Amino acid sequence: MREEICPECQGCGYLEVVVGSYYSHSFGNYLPREECVRCGLCGGTGLVEAPEEEYATEEELVPA
Ligand SMILES: [Zn+2]
Repeated sequence: MREEICPECQGCGYLEVVVGSYYSHSFGNYLPREECVRCGLCGGTGLVEAPEEEYATEEELVPA
């Protein structure tokens, strides 16, 4: 089984998501509040199981 960098979180295991907004006095308006959540695709490991090798080989064999 091969593993590759998770495409969802680029390997960091966490994602920044907007969970709401807050009022910023310095900006004078509402700004998005971001929070780090564990990436659901890789479960926070930053790695995902790579597609089977056979897949790519089969696609390459298909005549154009
Ligand atoms: Zn991920």
